Amino acid sequence: MSERIGVYPGTFDPITNGHIDIIRRATVLFDRVVVAVTTNPAKRPLFDVAERVAMVEACVRGIPGVEVDSFDGLLVEYAKRIGATAVIRGLRAVSDFEFEFQMALVNRKLNPDLVIVFLMPNEKYTYLNSTIVKEVAQFGGNISCFVPEVVERKLKERFGKP
Ligand code: ADP
Repeated sequence: MSERIGVYPGTFDPITNGHIDIIRRATVLFDRVVVAVTTNPAKRPLFDVAERVAMVEACVRGIPGVEVDSFDGLLVEYAKRIGATAVIRGLRAVSDFEFEFQMALVNRKLNPDLVIVFLMPNEKYTYLNSTIVKEVAQFGGNISCFVPEVVERKLKERFGKP
């Protein structure tokens, strides 16, 4: 049987404990999980792609079967290129649903063979996103329960906090 490869695309600006929870769950379903960092310039990310990739790499180093990559352009094309048969997305709350549903249907239209899998994080991460973490970090708040240490250090450095 061929390897089952799942791609987990996102901005990861930066990666949080919520993303890591989804990555761990995905490893149960796939032989290889490729965390794929998108450029998405519309989001005006705080960290450039290389920084985001480096942070993801540092955070997933101990999780077997997980790789990190980045891509431009269409997700369906990228998935095909790396041989991924499924896309993994996280669903935190009903508020995520509308956007995720739209994206999933568009991607399915572009490639009807691509399977899109939604995973729910532990409920303690349902309120967490990268934007809120950046806001708290910017004002010097404690973010140690939201992100791994390596990300916490990077955020403090970026915002010039001790
Ligand atoms: P995007 O810009 O593509 O939404 P994100 O980095 O914000 O990228 O998120 C990537 C994926 O991870 C999305 O499916 C998002 O819903 C999911 N996600 C983000 N934060 C969490 C979290 N705390 N718990 C579960 N899933 C999450």
